[in-house]
Amino acid sequence: MELVVLKFGGTSVADVPQIKKIALKIKGEVDQGNKVIVVVSAMSGVTNNLIDLVNQTSKNFSLSEHDVVLSTGEQITSALLSIALEELSLKARSWMGWQVPIVSDNTHGKAVIKDIKTSNIMGSIKKGYIAIVSGFQGISEDNRITTLGRGGSDTTAVALAAAFSADRCDIYTDVDGVYTTDPRIVKKAKKLDFITYEEMLELASQGAKVLQTRSVALAMKYNVNLRVLSSFANVPGTLIAEERGNMEKSEISGIAHSLNEAKITLSDIPDQPGQAANIFGALADFSINVDMIVQSSSINHGSTDMTFTIPETDLLMAEKVIKKIKGNIGFKKFTSETNVVKISIVGNAMRSQSGIAKTMFQTLAKNHINIQVISTSEIKISVLISSEYYELAMRSLHLAFNLDK
Ligand code: ASP
Ligand code: MG
Repeated sequence: MELVVLKFGGTSVADVPQIKKIALKIKGEVDQGNKVIVVVSAMSGVTNNLIDLVNQTSKNFSLSEHDVVLSTGEQITSALLSIALEELSLKARSWMGWQVPIVSDNTHGKAVIKDIKTSNIMGSIKKGYIAIVSGFQGISEDNRITTLGRGGSDTTAVALAAAFSADRCDIYTDVDGVYTTDPRIVKKAKKLDFITYEEMLELASQGAKVLQTRSVALAMKYNVNLRVLSSFANVPGTLIAEERGNMEKSEISGIAHSLNEAKITLSDIPDQPGQAANIFGALADFSINVDMIVQSSSINHGSTDMTFTIPETDLLMAEKVIKKIKGNIGFKKFTSETNVVKISIVGNAMRSQSGIAKTMFQTLAKNHINIQVISTSEIKISVLISSEYYELAMRSLHLAFNLDK
């Protein structure tokens, strides 16, 4: 007998027939003698509609009330699924985040889970009930409902799996696993049987949308046995776990792309200590995440140029912030561009193999794709290129690294 956490995303619970199908899948686990905790998302489209409702009501809403509205999406699904399970003569009950409770901090809209009390759900499971938990939400220490950020049900599922020391955490979604790259762009993308936590973390943070990045970090920290698999097709998914020694490895495991990028260049910055601290400090104060950074070396002109990328959605705010400190910094020109895409290649093999960067840059050169900014980590190389070439870049890199075969 195992204790399992199963998570179903928005498309897996899109309507009542779909919810009934999921109930049958859960019954399958129960019939095998397993104890089951289920985490559900809102039905697809519901969270976006709820956000619309808030925006129609006011432009100056408090984030705490925004969270109360948003949390209702998952509440509906959890109760409908419990009812569908009762219909199959199973014992089930729904749990809102606050009823568990899943205790979070009070950063509304992107709250961080601090603690999960296991005794209430454990008691219910021991009486034979399946627990259906609303994903994406918690309760703060000042007794307000919080949400965990878009895609946050993944994080709820992994956090529960860690708290309950579950034997596995299965994330059911509308794709049948983690792919070498986005199959909608590269037809020859292949499903991976296995990927390491670190590689998945890089792919998710570089734009792969299959799992919320935070959920992967959490799975790595607590060594959660994590799988991504399809709600619709009965095929094996992708296992995400620690590196296994003697696995046959390609040079890279995957290619991610991110369209939500903006590039900012500040020209002719007087070259003196403290400039980077001023610029990036000011952006950090407004929670704007800076990603790639390049600074040209000043060859005795006494001035330098700084180029960096931020999420495109933060561009207006960043422009305001930087123009406010223009006097302090003394740069001559602010330019920004949104017609850029970041392409990243990720693979654990980069730690030990040389020549991977060379293959990447030569492949782009052969296709006449200009690289605007480069950044690297131990297991990742990212390049910023013009939007018009990103599909070509992804396809040619997929081929060059033998991921097509
Ligand atoms: N319903 C929330 C969202 O759309 C959380 C989730 O689906 O994971 O972001
Ligand atoms: Mg999701």
